[in-house]
Amino acid sequence: MASNHEVAAIFREIADLLEVKGEVVYKYGAYREAARQIEAYATPVTTLAAERRLREIPRVGEAIAAKIAEYIKTGRMEYLDRVRSEVPPGLVDLLHVPGLGAKKIQALHRAIGITSLADLEEALRAGRVRDLPGMGEKTESNLLDEIGRLRARVQRHPIGIARPEAEEVVDALKASCPTVHAIDIAGSLRRWRDTIGDIDIIVASATPIDVLAAFVVLPMVRDVLAHGDTKASILTFRDLQIDLRVVAPVEFGAAILYFTGSKAHNVRLRALAQRRGWTLNEYALTEEATGRVIASESEEAIYHALDLAWIPPELREDLGEFELAASGDVPRLIEASDIDGELHCHTDWSDGHLTLDATVAEAERRGLRYLAITDHSQSLAMVRGLTPERARLQWAAIDAVNRRGGPTRILKGVELEILPNGSLDFPDDVLRGFDLVIASIHSGFRQDRETMTKRIVGALRNPHVDVIGHPTGRRVGRRDPYEVDMNAVLRAAAETGTAVEINANPERLDMDDAHARAAAALGVTIPINTDAHGADNFDLLRYGVATGRRAGLRPENVLNTRGLDELLSWLARPTTPA
Ligand SMILES: [Zn+2]
Ligand SMILES: [Zn+2]
Repeated sequence: MASNHEVAAIFREIADLLEVKGEVVYKYGAYREAARQIEAYATPVTTLAAERRLREIPRVGEAIAAKIAEYIKTGRMEYLDRVRSEVPPGLVDLLHVPGLGAKKIQALHRAIGITSLADLEEALRAGRVRDLPGMGEKTESNLLDEIGRLRARVQRHPIGIARPEAEEVVDALKASCPTVHAIDIAGSLRRWRDTIGDIDIIVASATPIDVLAAFVVLPMVRDVLAHGDTKASILTFRDLQIDLRVVAPVEFGAAILYFTGSKAHNVRLRALAQRRGWTLNEYALTEEATGRVIASESEEAIYHALDLAWIPPELREDLGEFELAASGDVPRLIEASDIDGELHCHTDWSDGHLTLDATVAEAERRGLRYLAITDHSQSLAMVRGLTPERARLQWAAIDAVNRRGGPTRILKGVELEILPNGSLDFPDDVLRGFDLVIASIHSGFRQDRETMTKRIVGALRNPHVDVIGHPTGRRVGRRDPYEVDMNAVLRAAAETGTAVEINANPERLDMDDAHARAAAALGVTIPINTDAHGADNFDLLRYGVATGRRAGLRPENVLNTRGLDELLSWLARPTTPA
Protein backbone atom coordinates (compact mmCIF):
# COMPACT_ATOMS: atom_id res chain seq x y z
CA MET A 1 0.00 0.00 0.00
CA ALA A 2 1.32 3.42 -0.91
CA SER A 3 3.00 5.16 2.03
CA ASN A 4 3.45 8.89 2.50
CA HIS A 5 7.14 8.44 1.75
CA GLU A 6 6.47 6.67 -1.51
CA VAL A 7 4.06 9.37 -2.66
CA ALA A 8 6.53 12.06 -1.60
CA ALA A 9 9.25 10.38 -3.67
CA ILE A 10 7.01 10.52 -6.72
CA PHE A 11 6.32 14.23 -6.31
CA ARG A 12 10.02 14.90 -5.80
CA GLU A 13 10.69 13.09 -9.06
CA ILE A 14 8.03 15.14 -10.83
CA ALA A 15 9.57 18.33 -9.43
CA ASP A 16 13.04 17.35 -10.67
CA LEU A 17 11.72 16.47 -14.11
CA LEU A 18 9.78 19.74 -14.39
CA GLU A 19 12.80 21.73 -13.24
CA VAL A 20 15.08 20.18 -15.84
CA LYS A 21 12.38 20.65 -18.44
CA GLY A 22 12.62 24.37 -17.78
CA GLU A 23 9.29 24.94 -16.06
CA VAL A 24 8.93 28.01 -13.87
CA VAL A 25 10.10 27.69 -10.30
CA TYR A 26 6.72 28.09 -8.66
CA LYS A 27 5.40 25.08 -10.53
CA TYR A 28 8.09 22.54 -9.65
CA GLY A 29 8.61 24.23 -6.28
CA ALA A 30 4.97 23.50 -5.44
CA TYR A 31 5.52 19.77 -6.02
CA ARG A 32 8.69 19.78 -3.98
CA GLU A 33 6.99 21.56 -1.08
CA ALA A 34 3.98 19.22 -1.28
CA ALA A 35 6.39 16.26 -1.13
CA ARG A 36 7.98 17.63 2.02
CA GLN A 37 4.60 18.16 3.67
CA ILE A 38 3.26 14.74 2.67
CA GLU A 39 6.34 13.02 4.04
CA ALA A 40 6.05 14.85 7.35
CA TYR A 41 2.28 14.37 7.71
CA ALA A 42 1.39 11.97 10.52
CA THR A 43 -1.79 10.45 9.01
CA PRO A 44 -1.21 7.94 6.17
CA VAL A 45 -2.31 9.16 2.75
CA THR A 46 -4.30 5.94 2.32
CA THR A 47 -6.47 6.84 5.33
CA LEU A 48 -6.83 10.43 4.14
CA ALA A 49 -7.78 9.30 0.64
CA ALA A 50 -10.38 6.84 1.93
CA GLU A 51 -11.95 9.63 3.98
CA ARG A 52 -11.53 12.24 1.24
CA ARG A 53 -9.34 14.33 3.53
CA LEU A 54 -6.15 14.60 1.43
CA ARG A 55 -6.43 18.37 1.23
CA GLU A 56 -5.87 18.60 4.98
CA ILE A 57 -2.17 18.22 4.21
CA PRO A 58 -0.63 21.70 3.92
CA ARG A 59 0.28 22.65 0.33
CA VAL A 60 -1.85 19.85 -1.11
CA GLY A 61 -4.43 21.43 -3.38
CA GLU A 62 -7.10 19.89 -5.55
CA ALA A 63 -4.79 18.85 -8.40
CA ILE A 64 -2.20 17.19 -6.20
CA ALA A 65 -4.88 15.49 -4.09
CA ALA A 66 -6.40 14.01 -7.24
CA LYS A 67 -3.00 12.66 -8.30
CA ILE A 68 -2.48 11.02 -4.90
CA ALA A 69 -5.94 9.46 -5.02
CA GLU A 70 -5.25 8.15 -8.51
CA TYR A 71 -1.97 6.60 -7.42
CA ILE A 72 -3.52 4.92 -4.40
CA LYS A 73 -6.35 3.53 -6.50
CA THR A 74 -4.44 2.40 -9.58
CA GLY A 75 -0.78 2.18 -8.52
CA ARG A 76 0.06 4.63 -11.32
CA MET A 77 0.08 8.35 -11.93
CA GLU A 78 -0.65 9.37 -15.48
CA TYR A 79 0.98 12.75 -15.03
CA LEU A 80 4.25 11.17 -13.85
CA ASP A 81 4.28 8.85 -16.86
CA ARG A 82 3.71 11.81 -19.12
CA VAL A 83 6.50 13.95 -17.68
CA ARG A 84 8.83 10.94 -17.74
CA SER A 85 8.10 10.50 -21.43
CA GLU A 86 8.88 14.16 -22.12
CA VAL A 87 12.22 14.37 -20.29
CA PRO A 88 14.96 11.73 -20.29
CA PRO A 89 15.19 10.88 -16.55
CA GLY A 90 19.03 10.85 -16.72
CA LEU A 91 18.98 14.62 -17.36
CA VAL A 92 17.87 15.18 -13.76
CA ASP A 93 21.36 14.22 -12.52
CA LEU A 94 22.77 17.15 -14.50
CA LEU A 95 20.95 19.56 -12.17
CA HIS A 96 23.47 18.58 -9.49
CA VAL A 97 26.36 19.93 -11.55
CA PRO A 98 27.12 23.47 -10.33
CA GLY A 99 27.00 25.84 -13.28
CA LEU A 100 24.33 23.93 -15.15
CA GLY A 101 20.74 25.15 -15.05
CA ALA A 102 17.69 23.96 -16.93
CA LYS A 103 18.39 26.19 -19.94
CA LYS A 104 21.89 24.88 -20.52
CA ILE A 105 20.81 21.30 -19.91
CA GLN A 106 18.04 21.62 -22.47
CA ALA A 107 20.47 23.14 -24.95
CA LEU A 108 22.91 20.24 -24.43
CA HIS A 109 20.09 17.80 -24.92
CA ARG A 110 18.78 19.39 -28.09
CA ALA A 111 22.09 20.28 -29.71
CA ILE A 112 24.14 17.17 -29.08
CA GLY A 113 21.71 14.64 -27.65
CA ILE A 114 22.97 14.55 -24.06
CA THR A 115 20.66 12.40 -21.88
CA SER A 116 22.80 11.61 -18.85
CA LEU A 117 25.81 12.62 -16.78
CA ALA A 118 27.90 9.92 -18.49
CA ASP A 119 26.91 11.32 -21.92
CA LEU A 120 27.94 14.79 -20.87
CA GLU A 121 31.28 13.67 -19.49
CA GLU A 122 32.06 11.88 -22.74
CA ALA A 123 31.06 14.90 -24.83
CA LEU A 124 33.18 17.22 -22.67
CA ARG A 125 36.21 14.97 -23.02
CA ALA A 126 35.70 14.78 -26.77
CA GLY A 127 35.57 18.60 -26.95
CA ARG A 128 32.05 18.56 -28.37
CA VAL A 129 30.65 21.07 -25.89
CA ARG A 130 32.98 24.05 -26.36
CA ASP A 131 31.42 25.16 -29.65
CA LEU A 132 27.89 25.39 -28.31
CA PRO A 133 26.53 28.91 -27.69
CA GLY A 134 27.47 30.23 -24.25
CA MET A 135 29.96 27.41 -23.54
CA GLY A 136 33.60 27.67 -24.63
CA GLU A 137 36.78 25.90 -23.53
CA LYS A 138 36.83 27.42 -20.05
CA THR A 139 33.29 26.24 -19.29
CA GLU A 140 34.18 22.84 -20.67
CA SER A 141 37.06 22.35 -18.27
CA ASN A 142 35.07 23.82 -15.35
CA LEU A 143 32.27 21.37 -16.01
CA LEU A 144 34.66 18.43 -16.14
CA ASP A 145 36.09 19.47 -12.76
CA GLU A 146 32.61 19.84 -11.30
CA ILE A 147 31.57 16.38 -12.53
CA GLY A 148 34.68 14.86 -10.95
CA ARG A 149 33.83 16.52 -7.63
CA LEU A 150 30.19 15.50 -7.94
CA ARG A 151 31.17 11.84 -8.35
CA ALA A 152 33.31 12.04 -5.22
CA ARG A 153 30.38 13.49 -3.23
CA VAL A 154 27.64 11.25 -4.44
CA GLN A 155 28.27 8.34 -2.04
CA ARG A 156 27.44 10.45 0.98
CA HIS A 157 24.19 12.09 2.04
CA PRO A 158 23.84 15.57 3.59
CA ILE A 159 22.99 15.38 7.28
CA GLY A 160 19.88 17.51 6.66
CA ILE A 161 18.37 14.57 4.74
CA ALA A 162 19.78 11.73 6.87
CA ARG A 163 19.03 13.07 10.33
CA PRO A 164 15.22 13.52 10.03
CA GLU A 165 14.90 10.14 8.31
CA ALA A 166 16.85 8.35 11.07
CA GLU A 167 14.90 10.13 13.81
CA GLU A 168 11.66 9.09 12.17
CA VAL A 169 12.76 5.44 12.28
CA VAL A 170 13.74 5.77 15.94
CA ASP A 171 10.40 7.35 16.87
CA ALA A 172 8.40 4.81 14.88
CA LEU A 173 10.15 1.84 16.52
CA LYS A 174 9.75 3.33 19.97
CA ALA A 175 6.05 3.76 19.31
CA SER A 176 5.42 0.37 17.71
CA CYS A 177 7.70 -1.96 19.72
CA PRO A 178 7.04 -2.12 23.46
CA THR A 179 10.11 -4.34 23.87
CA VAL A 180 12.53 -1.64 22.73
CA HIS A 181 14.51 -1.06 25.89
CA ALA A 182 16.85 1.54 24.43
CA ILE A 183 17.47 2.86 20.93
CA ASP A 184 19.92 5.33 19.48
CA ILE A 185 21.42 6.46 16.23
CA ALA A 186 25.11 5.48 15.96
CA GLY A 187 27.88 6.11 13.42
CA SER A 188 28.84 9.40 11.86
CA LEU A 189 25.25 10.58 12.20
CA ARG A 190 25.52 10.43 16.00
CA ARG A 191 28.75 12.37 15.68
CA TRP A 192 26.84 14.90 13.51
CA ARG A 193 29.24 14.84 10.58
CA ASP A 194 27.93 17.04 7.79
CA THR A 195 27.60 14.14 5.36
CA ILE A 196 26.69 10.56 6.14
CA GLY A 197 27.29 7.25 4.37
CA ASP A 198 24.94 4.56 5.70
CA ILE A 199 22.84 5.12 8.80
CA ASP A 200 23.41 2.83 11.81
CA ILE A 201 20.80 2.38 14.50
CA ILE A 202 21.30 0.26 17.62
CA VAL A 203 18.41 -1.16 19.63
CA ALA A 204 18.52 -2.90 23.00
CA SER A 205 15.76 -5.49 23.23
CA ALA A 206 15.18 -9.02 24.48
CA THR A 207 13.06 -9.80 21.40
CA PRO A 208 15.14 -8.94 18.33
CA ILE A 209 12.87 -10.86 15.94
CA ASP A 210 9.91 -8.61 16.77
CA VAL A 211 11.91 -5.40 16.47
CA LEU A 212 13.34 -6.37 13.08
CA ALA A 213 9.92 -7.45 11.82
CA ALA A 214 8.55 -4.01 12.72
CA PHE A 215 11.58 -2.26 11.16
CA VAL A 216 11.37 -3.81 7.69
CA VAL A 217 7.74 -2.74 7.19
CA LEU A 218 8.13 0.91 8.21
CA PRO A 219 6.57 3.37 5.74
CA MET A 220 9.90 4.77 4.51
CA VAL A 221 11.16 1.33 3.41
CA ARG A 222 11.54 0.93 -0.35
CA ASP A 223 13.60 -2.30 -0.33
CA VAL A 224 14.70 -4.77 2.30
CA LEU A 225 18.37 -5.49 1.59
CA ALA A 226 18.94 -8.02 4.38
CA HIS A 227 16.81 -9.43 7.20
CA GLY A 228 18.52 -11.71 9.73
CA ASP A 229 17.99 -12.66 13.38
CA THR A 230 19.75 -9.67 14.97
CA LYS A 231 20.33 -7.32 12.04
CA ALA A 232 18.45 -5.94 9.06
CA SER A 233 19.21 -3.41 6.34
CA ILE A 234 16.74 -1.38 4.35
CA LEU A 235 16.84 1.19 1.58
CA THR A 236 14.48 4.15 1.98
CA PHE A 237 12.60 6.12 -0.63
CA ARG A 238 15.27 8.80 -0.25
CA ASP A 239 18.01 6.29 -1.20
CA LEU A 240 19.42 6.03 2.30
CA GLN A 241 20.60 2.68 3.60
CA ILE A 242 19.71 2.06 7.24
CA ASP A 243 21.30 -0.81 9.16
CA LEU A 244 19.54 -1.79 12.37
CA ARG A 245 21.24 -4.00 14.95
CA VAL A 246 19.50 -5.43 17.98
CA VAL A 247 21.63 -6.27 21.02
CA ALA A 248 20.89 -7.52 24.53
CA PRO A 249 20.18 -4.62 26.91
CA VAL A 250 23.29 -5.50 28.94
CA GLU A 251 25.49 -4.98 25.85
CA PHE A 252 23.95 -1.69 24.71
CA GLY A 253 26.71 0.61 25.96
CA ALA A 254 29.49 -1.39 24.32
CA ALA A 255 27.54 -1.69 21.07
CA ILE A 256 26.60 1.99 20.78
CA LEU A 257 30.18 3.01 21.65
CA TYR A 258 31.63 0.62 19.06
CA PHE A 259 29.27 1.59 16.25
CA THR A 260 29.47 5.34 16.95
CA GLY A 261 33.20 5.45 16.19
CA SER A 262 35.06 7.18 14.83
CA LYS A 263 37.52 4.47 13.88
CA ALA A 264 40.41 6.62 15.10
CA HIS A 265 38.66 7.20 18.44
CA ASN A 266 37.98 3.47 18.89
CA VAL A 267 41.58 2.55 18.10
CA ARG A 268 42.74 4.80 20.94
CA LEU A 269 40.13 3.36 23.31
CA ARG A 270 41.15 -0.22 22.55
CA ALA A 271 44.80 0.63 23.12
CA LEU A 272 43.95 2.07 26.54
CA ALA A 273 42.07 -1.14 27.38
CA GLN A 274 44.94 -3.36 26.22
CA ARG A 275 47.39 -1.53 28.42
CA ARG A 276 45.35 -2.78 31.39
CA GLY A 277 45.11 -6.34 30.10
CA TRP A 278 41.53 -5.79 28.94
CA THR A 279 39.79 -6.11 25.59
CA LEU A 280 37.11 -3.79 24.27
CA ASN A 281 34.74 -4.88 21.52
CA GLU A 282 31.12 -4.37 20.52
CA TYR A 283 29.94 -6.64 23.38
CA ALA A 284 31.90 -5.53 26.43
CA LEU A 285 35.03 -4.30 28.12
CA THR A 286 36.49 -7.59 29.43
CA GLU A 287 39.43 -8.74 31.51
CA GLU A 288 41.45 -10.81 29.10
CA ALA A 289 42.84 -13.42 31.54
CA THR A 290 39.58 -14.27 33.29
CA GLY A 291 36.88 -13.26 30.84
CA ARG A 292 35.29 -11.15 33.57
CA VAL A 293 33.13 -8.33 32.18
CA ILE A 294 34.26 -4.97 33.55
CA ALA A 295 31.62 -2.78 31.88
CA SER A 296 29.15 -3.11 29.00
CA GLU A 297 25.75 -1.68 29.78
CA SER A 298 26.54 2.02 29.43
CA GLU A 299 29.13 4.13 27.65
CA GLU A 300 29.76 6.07 30.85
CA ALA A 301 30.77 2.91 32.72
CA ILE A 302 33.20 1.94 29.97
CA TYR A 303 34.84 5.38 29.81
CA HIS A 304 35.02 5.55 33.60
CA ALA A 305 36.65 2.10 33.85
CA LEU A 306 39.34 3.50 31.54
CA ASP A 307 39.74 6.55 33.83
CA LEU A 308 38.13 8.87 31.30
CA ALA A 309 35.21 11.23 31.57
CA TRP A 310 32.38 10.40 29.14
CA ILE A 311 33.17 12.00 25.78
CA PRO A 312 30.33 13.57 23.76
CA PRO A 313 29.98 11.80 20.37
CA GLU A 314 30.66 15.03 18.44
CA LEU A 315 34.21 15.07 19.84
CA ARG A 316 35.08 11.44 19.09
CA GLU A 317 37.54 12.05 16.25
CA ASP A 318 40.87 11.62 18.08
CA LEU A 319 41.47 15.37 17.87
CA GLY A 320 42.57 15.91 21.45
CA GLU A 321 39.49 14.61 23.29
CA PHE A 322 41.44 11.87 25.15
CA GLU A 323 43.79 14.39 26.69
CA LEU A 324 40.79 16.46 27.85
CA ALA A 325 38.90 13.43 29.17
CA ALA A 326 41.92 12.08 31.05
CA SER A 327 42.33 15.37 32.92
CA GLY A 328 38.58 15.67 33.52
CA ASP A 329 38.49 18.78 31.31
CA VAL A 330 35.89 17.80 28.71
CA PRO A 331 34.39 21.17 27.82
CA ARG A 332 30.79 22.01 28.56
CA LEU A 333 29.85 22.19 24.87
CA ILE A 334 27.39 24.69 23.44
CA GLU A 335 23.74 23.52 23.44
CA ALA A 336 20.75 24.81 21.50
CA SER A 337 19.18 25.99 24.77
CA ASP A 338 22.16 28.35 25.31
CA ILE A 339 21.19 30.37 22.23
CA ASP A 340 19.36 33.56 23.20
CA GLY A 341 18.58 35.11 19.84
CA GLU A 342 18.92 34.94 16.07
CA LEU A 343 21.19 37.26 14.09
CA HIS A 344 20.50 36.27 10.46
CA CYS A 345 17.08 35.93 8.85
CA HIS A 346 15.16 37.06 5.78
CA THR A 347 11.62 38.35 5.35
CA ASP A 348 9.52 38.96 2.26
CA TRP A 349 11.24 42.33 1.94
CA SER A 350 13.81 40.21 0.05
CA ASP A 351 13.70 36.42 -0.45
CA GLY A 352 12.11 35.26 2.84
CA HIS A 353 8.62 33.78 2.83
CA LEU A 354 7.16 35.60 5.83
CA THR A 355 6.23 39.21 6.38
CA LEU A 356 8.16 41.18 8.95
CA ASP A 357 5.28 40.83 11.43
CA ALA A 358 5.00 37.07 10.91
CA THR A 359 8.75 36.68 11.34
CA VAL A 360 8.60 38.63 14.59
CA ALA A 361 5.65 36.51 15.77
CA GLU A 362 7.64 33.35 15.05
CA ALA A 363 10.63 34.66 17.02
CA GLU A 364 8.36 35.54 19.93
CA ARG A 365 6.72 32.12 19.84
CA ARG A 366 10.18 30.56 20.09
CA GLY A 367 11.17 32.75 23.01
CA LEU A 368 14.04 34.54 21.24
CA ARG A 369 15.26 37.57 23.19
CA TYR A 370 16.41 39.29 20.01
CA LEU A 371 16.17 38.90 16.27
CA ALA A 372 18.17 40.70 13.59
CA ILE A 373 16.29 41.14 10.33
CA THR A 374 18.98 40.82 7.67
CA ASP A 375 17.44 41.03 4.23
CA HIS A 376 19.67 41.15 1.16
CA SER A 377 21.14 44.38 -0.21
CA GLN A 378 20.45 46.01 -3.57
CA SER A 379 22.91 44.19 -5.84
CA LEU A 380 21.07 40.95 -5.29
CA ALA A 381 18.33 42.29 -7.53
CA MET A 382 17.06 38.79 -8.32
CA VAL A 383 15.65 38.58 -4.79
CA ARG A 384 14.66 42.26 -4.56
CA GLY A 385 17.63 43.22 -2.38
CA LEU A 386 17.01 46.42 -0.40
CA THR A 387 17.98 49.80 -1.84
CA PRO A 388 18.95 52.43 0.75
CA GLU A 389 15.44 53.88 0.37
CA ARG A 390 13.74 50.56 1.11
CA ALA A 391 16.16 49.93 3.97
CA ARG A 392 15.00 53.19 5.56
CA LEU A 393 11.37 52.13 5.14
CA GLN A 394 12.20 48.82 6.81
CA TRP A 395 13.90 50.63 9.70
CA ALA A 396 10.71 52.60 10.28
CA ALA A 397 8.69 49.36 10.26
CA ILE A 398 11.13 47.81 12.77
CA ASP A 399 10.93 50.89 15.00
CA ALA A 400 7.16 50.50 14.99
CA VAL A 401 7.47 46.83 16.02
CA ASN A 402 9.87 47.68 18.84
CA ARG A 403 7.54 50.43 20.09
CA ARG A 404 4.93 47.72 20.72
CA GLY A 405 7.36 46.44 23.35
CA GLY A 406 7.10 42.72 22.61
CA PRO A 407 9.37 40.15 24.26
CA THR A 408 11.75 39.99 21.28
CA ARG A 409 13.92 43.00 20.50
CA ILE A 410 14.20 43.48 16.74
CA LEU A 411 17.52 44.68 15.32
CA LYS A 412 17.98 46.48 12.01
CA GLY A 413 20.30 44.25 10.06
CA VAL A 414 21.33 43.59 6.50
CA GLU A 415 23.06 40.81 4.59
CA LEU A 416 25.34 43.03 2.57
CA GLU A 417 26.84 41.95 -0.74
CA ILE A 418 30.60 41.88 -0.98
CA LEU A 419 30.80 42.71 -4.67
CA PRO A 420 33.21 40.85 -6.99
CA ASN A 421 35.55 43.87 -7.07
CA GLY A 422 35.74 43.80 -3.26
CA SER A 423 33.63 46.90 -2.63
CA LEU A 424 30.56 46.83 -0.41
CA ASP A 425 27.01 47.25 -1.64
CA PHE A 426 26.21 50.30 0.54
CA PRO A 427 28.34 53.35 1.37
CA ASP A 428 29.37 53.91 4.98
CA ASP A 429 26.74 56.56 5.66
CA VAL A 430 24.01 54.00 4.90
CA LEU A 431 25.78 51.21 6.80
CA ARG A 432 25.92 53.46 9.86
CA GLY A 433 22.12 53.23 10.15
CA PHE A 434 22.08 49.47 10.73
CA ASP A 435 22.42 47.79 14.12
CA LEU A 436 24.10 44.76 12.57
CA VAL A 437 25.80 44.19 9.22
CA ILE A 438 26.54 40.70 7.88
CA ALA A 439 28.77 40.79 4.80
CA SER A 440 28.44 37.81 2.45
CA ILE A 441 29.30 36.59 -1.03
CA HIS A 442 26.58 35.36 -3.39
CA SER A 443 28.28 35.89 -6.76
CA GLY A 444 31.69 35.83 -8.41
CA PHE A 445 32.59 32.44 -6.86
CA ARG A 446 35.28 31.57 -9.37
CA GLN A 447 37.92 34.08 -8.38
CA ASP A 448 41.40 32.86 -7.55
CA ARG A 449 42.41 32.32 -3.95
CA GLU A 450 44.32 35.55 -3.53
CA THR A 451 41.57 37.75 -5.01
CA MET A 452 38.87 36.03 -2.98
CA THR A 453 40.83 36.23 0.27
CA LYS A 454 41.53 39.94 -0.26
CA ARG A 455 37.86 40.50 -1.08
CA ILE A 456 36.66 38.98 2.20
CA VAL A 457 39.44 40.40 4.37
CA GLY A 458 38.77 43.83 2.86
CA ALA A 459 35.09 43.56 3.82
CA LEU A 460 35.76 42.54 7.39
CA ARG A 461 38.14 45.44 7.83
CA ASN A 462 35.26 47.84 7.25
CA PRO A 463 34.35 49.03 10.77
CA HIS A 464 30.62 48.76 9.99
CA VAL A 465 30.83 45.08 9.15
CA ASP A 466 30.01 42.99 12.23
CA VAL A 467 29.82 39.47 10.84
CA ILE A 468 31.07 37.54 7.81
CA GLY A 469 28.24 35.27 6.59
CA HIS A 470 28.74 31.68 5.33
CA PRO A 471 32.44 32.44 4.69
CA THR A 472 33.38 29.67 2.22
CA GLY A 473 30.20 29.53 0.13
CA ARG A 474 30.02 25.75 0.12
CA ARG A 475 26.75 23.86 -0.31
CA VAL A 476 26.96 20.48 1.42
CA GLY A 477 26.82 17.71 -1.18
CA ARG A 478 26.35 20.22 -4.01
CA ARG A 479 29.07 22.83 -4.31
CA ASP A 480 32.59 22.83 -2.96
CA PRO A 481 33.84 25.94 -1.13
CA TYR A 482 35.29 28.70 -3.23
CA GLU A 483 39.03 29.21 -3.13
CA VAL A 484 39.79 31.20 -0.01
CA ASP A 485 42.56 31.23 2.59
CA MET A 486 40.41 30.80 5.69
CA ASN A 487 43.40 31.08 8.00
CA ALA A 488 44.06 34.56 6.69
CA VAL A 489 40.36 35.44 7.02
CA LEU A 490 40.22 34.16 10.60
CA ARG A 491 43.42 35.92 11.61
CA ALA A 492 42.08 39.21 10.23
CA ALA A 493 38.75 38.61 12.00
CA ALA A 494 40.55 38.05 15.30
CA GLU A 495 42.50 41.24 14.78
CA THR A 496 39.53 43.47 13.92
CA GLY A 497 37.04 41.82 16.30
CA THR A 498 34.76 40.87 13.43
CA ALA A 499 32.61 37.78 13.99
CA VAL A 500 32.52 34.85 11.56
CA GLU A 501 29.29 32.91 11.35
CA ILE A 502 28.43 29.25 11.52
CA ASN A 503 25.49 29.14 9.15
CA ALA A 504 23.27 26.40 10.60
CA ASN A 505 21.42 25.55 7.41
CA PRO A 506 22.41 21.90 6.84
CA GLU A 507 22.95 22.71 3.16
CA ARG A 508 25.67 25.11 4.24
CA LEU A 509 27.17 24.39 7.69
CA ASP A 510 29.59 27.14 6.84
CA MET A 511 32.07 27.63 8.43
CA ASP A 512 32.58 23.94 9.04
CA ASP A 513 33.78 22.34 12.28
CA ALA A 514 37.49 22.47 11.40
CA HIS A 515 37.38 26.20 10.62
CA ALA A 516 35.26 26.88 13.69
CA ARG A 517 37.82 25.07 15.84
CA ALA A 518 40.57 27.24 14.35
CA ALA A 519 38.43 30.36 14.81
CA ALA A 520 37.82 29.65 18.48
CA ALA A 521 41.53 29.03 19.04
CA LEU A 522 42.22 32.50 17.61
CA GLY A 523 39.56 34.04 19.83
CA VAL A 524 37.19 34.88 16.96
CA THR A 525 33.60 35.53 18.04
CA ILE A 526 31.20 33.06 16.41
CA PRO A 527 27.45 33.54 15.96
CA ILE A 528 25.42 30.43 15.11
CA ASN A 529 22.72 31.62 12.70
CA THR A 530 19.85 29.81 11.00
CA ASP A 531 19.62 32.23 8.03
CA ALA A 532 15.87 31.50 8.25
CA HIS A 533 13.81 32.22 5.13
CA GLY A 534 10.60 30.85 6.67
CA ALA A 535 9.06 29.72 9.97
CA ASP A 536 10.36 26.16 10.15
CA ASN A 537 13.89 27.20 9.12
CA PHE A 538 14.39 28.33 12.72
CA ASP A 539 14.43 24.59 13.56
CA LEU A 540 17.73 24.25 11.67
CA LEU A 541 19.61 25.79 14.60
CA ARG A 542 20.50 22.33 15.95
CA TYR A 543 22.68 21.57 12.92
CA GLY A 544 24.75 24.67 13.51
CA VAL A 545 24.97 23.91 17.22
CA ALA A 546 26.22 20.41 16.33
CA THR A 547 28.91 21.93 14.11
CA GLY A 548 29.91 24.13 17.05
CA ARG A 549 30.03 21.09 19.34
CA ARG A 550 32.22 19.22 16.85
CA ALA A 551 34.51 22.25 16.99
CA GLY A 552 34.59 22.02 20.79
CA LEU A 553 32.85 25.41 21.23
CA ARG A 554 31.68 26.41 24.70
CA PRO A 555 28.75 28.81 25.19
CA GLU A 556 31.16 31.71 25.71
CA ASN A 557 32.63 31.27 22.20
CA VAL A 558 29.23 31.92 20.66
CA LEU A 559 27.98 35.48 20.15
CA ASN A 560 24.25 34.81 20.34
CA THR A 561 24.41 33.08 23.71
CA ARG A 562 24.82 36.56 25.15
CA GLY A 563 21.92 38.40 26.68
CA LEU A 564 20.47 41.43 24.88
CA ASP A 565 22.48 44.04 26.80
CA GLU A 566 25.72 42.20 26.30
CA LEU A 567 24.96 41.79 22.63
CA LEU A 568 24.18 45.48 22.24
CA SER A 569 27.44 46.45 23.90
CA TRP A 570 29.30 44.05 21.58
CA LEU A 571 27.62 45.73 18.59
CA ALA A 572 28.71 49.12 19.96
CA ARG A 573 32.29 47.88 20.49
CA PRO A 574 34.95 50.33 19.42
CA THR A 575 36.36 49.21 16.10
CA THR A 576 39.77 50.10 14.85
CA PRO A 577 39.85 50.47 11.09
CA ALA A 578 43.04 48.64 10.18
ZN1 LIG B 1 23.61 34.52 2.25
ZN1 LIG C 1 21.07 34.99 4.40
